[in-house]
Amino acid sequence: MYRLSEEESLIRKTVRDFATRELAPLVAEAERTGCFPREHILPRMAALGLFSVCVPPELGGVGGTTLMLCIIGEEVARIAGGFAIGVMASVVSPSALVKLSGGRVAAPVLASLLEGMVMPAMAFTEPGAGSDLVAIRTKVTRTEHGLVLDGAKAFISNGPTADVYLVAAVRAEAMEASREERAKGLGVYVVPRGLDGFSIGKPLEKLGMRSSETGELHFDGVLLPPGPGLGAAKTEGDKKSGMRAMMDLLDYNRLYIAALSIGIAQAAFEASLEYVKQRRAFDKPIGHHQATGFKVARMAMKLDAARALVQRACELYDGGGRCAREVAEAKLYASEAAVEITSDAVQIHGAYGYTEEFAVERYFRDAKVGTIWEGTSEIQQQIICRELGLYD
Ligand SMILES: Cc1cc2nc3c(=O)[nH]c(=O)nc-3n(C[C@H](O)[C@H](O)[C@H](O)COP(=O)(O)OP(=O)(O)OC[C@H]3O[C@@H](n4cnc5c(N)ncnc54)[C@H](O)[C@@H]3O)c2cc1C
Repeated sequence: MYRLSEEESLIRKTVRDFATRELAPLVAEAERTGCFPREHILPRMAALGLFSVCVPPELGGVGGTTLMLCIIGEEVARIAGGFAIGVMASVVSPSALVKLSGGRVAAPVLASLLEGMVMPAMAFTEPGAGSDLVAIRTKVTRTEHGLVLDGAKAFISNGPTADVYLVAAVRAEAMEASREERAKGLGVYVVPRGLDGFSIGKPLEKLGMRSSETGELHFDGVLLPPGPGLGAAKTEGDKKSGMRAMMDLLDYNRLYIAALSIGIAQAAFEASLEYVKQRRAFDKPIGHHQATGFKVARMAMKLDAARALVQRACELYDGGGRCAREVAEAKLYASEAAVEITSDAVQIHGAYGYTEEFAVERYFRDAKVGTIWEGTSEIQQQIICRELGLYD
């Protein structure tokens, strides 16, 4: 269990009530059509102040802790993993933009995000580079007219329908340099939908997370808006190298993703706990058969352990200390635990668990991507090895 402050407990209750009342009725249709119902979700979450968390009050936010962002992700994912990924950029990017821009993000941009008026997407992965961010080929060139973006992104959540994109790119002059120099040349550029030369691919059909749209983006000589408007927030290697700023952002995102995995696993656990009490075999509830009861016991243990790891990493992150290892441990453990828990949930439900009549099949499909996105399980282990000094 988390040790929650009064404000964190209040956020949990607010989001749980909201998600149960307003999001649960939308899930079946969204999963069937593959469409994230943004118009029903974003303005309502914004009205609850959920996009203002971790944004400083002087910039129009409500402040708060990274754990609060995780609680929002977890509670939405408990209802639908796809919805939790659909809202992720809206929940995370306002405070991420404030961090990346050193507080210089344009007020109208921030206000439209906090009000849920625009839907953001975070675009780092490319057809040829996912785990290896330094290998991305999307480049930004300084011209007499302004910054021009060329390249392509793949597997972008909200890609097909977002209004504004946080796009990772390398400065053109660093493109052919050493890895170290390329890393310094990495940055994030805010790109509005609809610019000349910016085209968007169709939504992909996926194993899970079907109530969230995922797709490709193409940039062909896209002239970014000048000045402090949407083009303003970017990181270029001044105090921090671009790569370090990106890593900070990835840590932030990974904590949300760890919590999202916990939310899916929590739903599978609750369904299993209920089912083992009701379903009978050999004249007793199946929970009385040790092999089944023990699965539920281990689910509870893994959920508690995952939450403890997330809370520790959030506290370290907010404290400003080095926490790459703790974040990686939280993301690795929570996402793998979710795969195990949702798989056990299907097993516990027997044949029913394999049908669409019971939500556990969806939880099982949705959990898998947790070990792939935002840094695969292998990459998390590589980070832990590095932080343990194995590569020194
Ligand atoms: C549904 C979905 C939504 C997504 N949403 C977004 C999004 O919104 N924004 C975004 O930017 N990206 C998004 N992604 C992309 C995701 O973050 C990447 O898929 C992920 O980072 C892995 O990159 P890759 O797929 O290119 O795998 P690769 O990097 O090609 O890796 C393939 C395999 O090789 C392994 N591997 C690679 N390097 C190493 C190494 N050094 N050591 C050990 N093993 C290694 C990996 O662990 C993996 O198993 C999404 C993906 C999915 C499936």
